[in-house]
Amino acid sequence: MKDFTSSLLETGKRQITTMNIETARATYAASPQASEHFDVLIVGAGISGIGSAYHLQRDLPDTSFVILENQDSFGGTWITHRYPGIRSDSDLHTFGYSFKPWVGPPIATAQEILSYMGEVIAENDLARHIRYKHRIETASWSGKTKLWTIEAVRNDTGERVAFTANFLWMCQGYYRHSEGYTPEWPGMDTFKGRIVHPQLWPKNIELKDKRVVVIGSGATAATLIPSIADRCAHVTMLQRSPTFFRLGRNAIELAEQLRQLQVKEEWIHEIVRRKILFEQDAFTRRCVAEPDQVTKELIGQITAVLGPDYDVATHFTPKYRPWRQRIAFVPDADLFHGIKSGKASVVTDEIERFTDKGILLKSGGEIDADIIVTATGFNLCVLGDIAFAIDGKPLDFADTVTYRGMMFTGVPNMAWVFGYFRASWTLRTDLVAEFVCRLLKHMSETGARQVEVALRPEDHNMPLLPWIDPENFNPGYMMRNMHLLPKRGDKPEWQHNQDYWAEKDQFPAIDLDDKAFVYK
Ligand SMILES: Cc1cc2nc3c(=O)[nH]c(=O)nc-3n(C[C@H](O)[C@H](O)[C@H](O)COP(=O)(O)OP(=O)(O)OC[C@H]3O[C@@H](n4cnc5c(N)ncnc54)[C@H](O)[C@@H]3O)c2cc1C
Repeated sequence: MKDFTSSLLETGKRQITTMNIETARATYAASPQASEHFDVLIVGAGISGIGSAYHLQRDLPDTSFVILENQDSFGGTWITHRYPGIRSDSDLHTFGYSFKPWVGPPIATAQEILSYMGEVIAENDLARHIRYKHRIETASWSGKTKLWTIEAVRNDTGERVAFTANFLWMCQGYYRHSEGYTPEWPGMDTFKGRIVHPQLWPKNIELKDKRVVVIGSGATAATLIPSIADRCAHVTMLQRSPTFFRLGRNAIELAEQLRQLQVKEEWIHEIVRRKILFEQDAFTRRCVAEPDQVTKELIGQITAVLGPDYDVATHFTPKYRPWRQRIAFVPDADLFHGIKSGKASVVTDEIERFTDKGILLKSGGEIDADIIVTATGFNLCVLGDIAFAIDGKPLDFADTVTYRGMMFTGVPNMAWVFGYFRASWTLRTDLVAEFVCRLLKHMSETGARQVEVALRPEDHNMPLLPWIDPENFNPGYMMRNMHLLPKRGDKPEWQHNQDYWAEKDQFPAIDLDDKAFVYK
């Protein structure tokens, strides 16, 4: 691994021969034109950024790299979201990395995920590569120097800092961390209680004896409600339409058995991953082949907890087919036990307006509230709100076509980690990382300094479609913002098809000399 000073030396940007690292840093900090150079610059220290750094360090140990992160610490999603009960809805055997065994219960709290990531950072000595409190604002590619110039603002000092990099690895996730999505309802300003978005959960909020309404029916609502139900006077889940849930124990019997047999954790991780992936594949296929039967089974699980008199038809029978949106896993049916106990309840209706006392519904009913939680989702954020330019020309990602959801036509030396929604996100982090490392090795071996993807002659008549097929997957934040995302074609190379089971075989077989890759 090359250090800061030797990286500068290698790029030839500055002739520093005798300075130690501290002197070099001070010199460069004082000069606004100065930039540090790295072979690879990773944006974001979430689960994707840390995983990508691990692969890069393992597969290309001589590559210099830095991770720039806006927040004060690593974790991304798992540090941003601090609402009560925050937890994964995927199992951690597949949400965890392939290379680091997960040894706890499959559904994990944010804190457990952060501890796991902390161990990955410590065990692989990654901390020295991370610069926190660096918000990247611009990224400009120069075809002349074949370098990206990245400008960031330090949140602690307000100082502007610049970096150059040969390759940009975008691990910035898919939503804006600074704010959640809250629709505008009439009368919101008249409500006398408190309105809270779970993404910006206040530290000092008092729930004791409060009537809480949670607007939303997704994983966030399903997590938050059981965790606060005991503390407040009552919690109401107010949903416009129902969502699918899967219920089950927060334990994997096979893992428990293997542990009893004192099988090594590395093996347990791999075996359990394979079992889960096999079962998820079968389940996904069933959702497509026999959606009515799957719907019946999922709703049957809920009826088994709530009893035959509960109106599952109104509150827990979605209008869409299972798997068009992510299915949240509810460990130990905690949400439904909360409803059964009477501490939580569900209202399926539309909001007419907020009143000073609570919410007036379209049906004419009213829900009184002291606190209204808007678990209404995210603001999609394409490429970290960074202003991109290619040779001085501003880049609009919506004008590009995606190569397998990770590279973009006309955008050199850049890859984006956009994970799976139906399977664990991290499965794709690992796949993309293996691909990027292979690509970088190939470039190094062939002496190429630039790679970009381009439509091949046979692709020119290909229809260009929205990033994702709404028939296939249609969560609100994607539907609201599809116009911001790159286009997809109708061939596997030119789309992110959300199919781990196809991509796990396709990615390692990608021919780097295919005409879709243009090297310079
Ligand atoms: C509450 C919640 C629960 C979820 N549960 C699951 C689950 O169980 N399973 C699953 O598969 N998926 C889940 N997801 C989806 C989840 O976001 C991803 O799985 C995963 O955590 C994303 O990791 P990431 O590193 O790609 O992005 P993020 O976690 O979003 O991290 C990106 C990082 O990049 C930084 N960044 C962004 N822009 C810039 C910039 N301009 N400059 C500097 N830094 C920048 C951000 O500060 C952030 O730290 C969940 C999402 C949420 C919100």
